Formats: sequence, C-alpha cells, structure tokens
Amino acid sequence: MYTSTPNWLMQRAFLTPERIAIYSENEQKTFAQLHEAAIKKAGKLAHLGVRKGEIVALLMRNSINMVEMIHALHYIGAVVLLQNVRLTVHELVWQLQDSGAKWWIVGDEWGVYKDEIAVPTITTSELEKLPQDDVPLQEQYHFDDIATIMYTSGTTGKPKGVLQTYGNHWWSAVGSVLNLGLYENDCWLAAVPFFHVSGLSILMRSVIYGMSVYMMDPFDAKKANEIIMSGKVTMMSVVSAMLQQMLSQLGERTYPCMFRCMLLGGGPAPKPLLEVCRDKNIPVYQTYGMTETASQMATLAPEYSITKLGSAGKPLFPVQLRIETEGRAARSYEAGEIVVKGPNVTKGYLHRPEATEKAIRDGWFYTGDIGYVDEEGFLYVLDRRSDLIISGGENIYPAEIEAVLLSHEAVEEAGVTGIADERWGQVPCAFVKLKNGCVATTEQLTAFCQTQLAKYKVPKRIYIVDELPRNAAKKLLRRELLHLIPKDQR
Ligand code: ATP
Ligand code: MG
Repeated sequence: MYTSTPNWLMQRAFLTPERIAIYSENEQKTFAQLHEAAIKKAGKLAHLGVRKGEIVALLMRNSINMVEMIHALHYIGAVVLLQNVRLTVHELVWQLQDSGAKWWIVGDEWGVYKDEIAVPTITTSELEKLPQDDVPLQEQYHFDDIATIMYTSGTTGKPKGVLQTYGNHWWSAVGSVLNLGLYENDCWLAAVPFFHVSGLSILMRSVIYGMSVYMMDPFDAKKANEIIMSGKVTMMSVVSAMLQQMLSQLGERTYPCMFRCMLLGGGPAPKPLLEVCRDKNIPVYQTYGMTETASQMATLAPEYSITKLGSAGKPLFPVQLRIETEGRAARSYEAGEIVVKGPNVTKGYLHRPEATEKAIRDGWFYTGDIGYVDEEGFLYVLDRRSDLIISGGENIYPAEIEAVLLSHEAVEEAGVTGIADERWGQVPCAFVKLKNGCVATTEQLTAFCQTQLAKYKVPKRIYIVDELPRNAAKKLLRRELLHLIPKDQR
C-alpha cells in the first residue's frame, strides 16, 4: 500500500510550474515561484535552527508570506501549529506551553511579546533577513506524519490540539474533489483564515489539484461580491455570517453562472438564508465538518437544496457516518451522536491520551454533535451535545430556536442558551441582534416564537443586543451569551 506521495508543492511546481498558485489584490505567484519562495524560506528557517519533527507555532494573518511559510516548514519536515490571530497573548502562550512548541514565528505586530516568552521567537521580517543554509528538503510526505496542529476553536470548552496528518489533508482534498469535481478554470476565493481548517484545506487542495487560490484578507462582503461578479473565481468557502453579509450587499443582483460552488460550513445554516440563495440560484453546498475531520466530511449538493433544505447532505466518498444512541445504531429520524470514520479523521489530540481514547473508539470518531439521518441517508445536524438545553426532562436544541428567530424579518443574528430555572432546571434564553433600521420588541419576538415552537421551547427571556459573541471563525460562542445579561438580572 502507498503511504506516501511526493511533496505536494514540489510535485505541483514540477507538473504545472506556470499555473497561478495564488492571487492577492496586488500580487500573484505561479506554483514555480511559490516553490522557489518556499525553498528560500526553508533555508532561512534551517539557519535559525528549525529541524525536522519540531513543532513550530505560526501566528500570521492570511498573506502570501504565510502560505510560503507553511510550505517552507513542511519542506523542512516541521510540524506547523497554526494559531488564531484573535487570541489573547495569554491564550497564545498557553498553546505554546501545551504543545511544547520549539519555535514561535510571528507576524511583526506580535514582535512585542518576544521578550516575555521562553520559546525562541522570531518575527517574519527578522526571518527574511537571515541567510539561507542548505537543508535537505522533504521530497516525500508520509501519510502518518503530522503536518499541522490546530487547536479547536474552544467553542465548548478548553481548546485541544488536533493532530492533522498529511494523510488527513490528502484524503480531505480527494474527498472534496470527488464530490465537487475540478474544472480547468477553477479558482477558490479564500476569505476564511488559513489558521482554521476551512482556510488551510483550500491551500492543500490548491497544490494537490493544481488550482489557483484568490486570497482576500480581511473578509469584506462588497469586495468578495465584486471578485465573484468579475468572474475571477468559481468557488468560495464561507460561514453563514459571511454569506449573510454578502447577500445583503448583493441586493437584487445575483452571481454569474460560472460561479459554481459556495461551500457553506462551520455551523448550522439558517433556513431563510438557504431559501434566499435558492431563489437567487446561488449554488450553496451546505457542509458538515470539523477540525478533527480536516474540513468538510458531508455536503449537500445544490440539486437537493429544495427537497432536503437544512440537511448537511451525505458523507463524502471516503467517509462512513452513523448515528448512535444508547450504544446502538439509531433508526432513521432518531436523534443521536454523529459518529464517523475515514482517512481524513484525526489520530487524536496532542498530549491528551484520555481525550483521544474518549473520542476515538474502535476506529470511529465521536463528534459530540447530535443529529439524525433520514431514510435516504441525508444527515441533519441538530446541535452540539454540550449545548443541549434540558428543560423539565425535554431536550431542546438551541439551533432550532435560533433558526425560528432568524426567520423573523427584523432579526439579523440570534443566539440561544440555557439559563437556570428553579422549576424546569433550565429554560431557553435568546439574544437577538436586529437588522439595521428594523424594530421589534421582545414581546413581538416572543409572540412570533409562540406561533412556531412548542411552549417549552419558547425563550423565557429575549435580550436585544448590539453584537453576539463570535470567535475568529465567526462562530457563535453560546457559552459567552450569558455575559450579555445585565448584571442585576443574572
Ligand atoms: P471546540 O471543539 O473547541 O468546541 P469547535 O467544535 O467549534 O470547537 P470546529 O472544529 O471549528 O471547532 O467546529 C466544528 C463544529 O462546528 C462541529 O462539531 C459542529 O458542532 C459545528 N458544525 C459544523 N458544521 C455544521 C453544520 N452543518 N450544522 C451544524 N453544526 C455544524
Ligand atoms: Mg469541536
């Protein structure tokens, strides 16, 4: 069995050197140029002292420089720990310690932390000035080797370092292309962070497929729409908050038909959003995936977007998926934990044998998400097990209530969590951000929920707020919602 491939960028630069690997607003590079730049950086990293197998933490904003750095570190055989640029210095340092990183490479703006940290630290500008050493380059990537580590976004608890092997990334890219196909003119608009698996997986696909990436940073709905309208890109990865902004900005217009895939992931997709896309013929592929599965592992093709509205589709070809409840396979429509298996699934968590053993049993990964499949095998993700609200013995999924609130014409964003209640144990409490220029009272919103939801699911309190807490991937941080409650009402 083959358990290795040639180094991806090296092979790509050999096969299609002249093709554009990456565009940014004012720069572009072919695969050959990207390869040259990666070799150069690998020489500088080697001069610094970076060696094969070492964990190197990388803290950079999306840029061509960052893309080159990731490849350069892989050329040396280092393990790249990708850090979220929105973290506080305390959280960053915690990750450095937790991972045992040997080096910290940071964008210049984080250079100020250099002296406070025990791990040898260098800014990207300082690295550029170093001479290059000769260094043996990794001509092959072994599928079992760890390529990257990403801490989960910590939406539900303390972050854990997810180990992602070269094999995980390879199979994720293959699974995706077996689903979406590949066209000669394909170009992927990357506006999601490369430190998150949704962004990194675009870079991996790029070198494996020979596909161009158009990079934009920071995300800007108007610019993203302009890029799509100009016909420069054919695909884009988004989370629902990004898509929502793009649609508001788009107004009456729609995208050209060559734009063939809006890959929507990261969390539940509000139905009204999907309906607008359907009416505008925007080809949304709703996906389900996580850091631990190296990007999406199930997707819903646009042809099912009407009949299976709200489903995350079927598993990608290399992935097996089942629903488990009370230790047995669930029946169709019966809710249970989503359990998956496939070559894109992580080996486990860094330095966390117990968490790994808990999550991976008999080769199956327990996602911690609740969902069900219909009789045809289409997956519906209900919510995270840990966000479940149990009220008087009834299970309430916050996502269901959020979806109802989002279908109200005045509501832009909604978040629901459980609050303690003497009688019921917990009751749902909602936080709502209204659309610009729209008015709605909490009484009106409650009345609206009463028409759509069983009584026990109707939020007992609704707060209208300016902003909902989200992480760098723009995901709702439900456990932080409670901080929005005025102190005297907690
Ligand atoms: P942590 O594990 O630290 O709580 P996280 O789970 O938010 O962080 P990610 O790996 O980025 O970190 O997110 C994956 C999660 O996002 C999934 O486990 C699931 O809960 C949610 N998710 C992804 N796709 C969907 C979807 N289509 N519908 C509902 N939820 C989704
Ligand atoms: Mg998770």
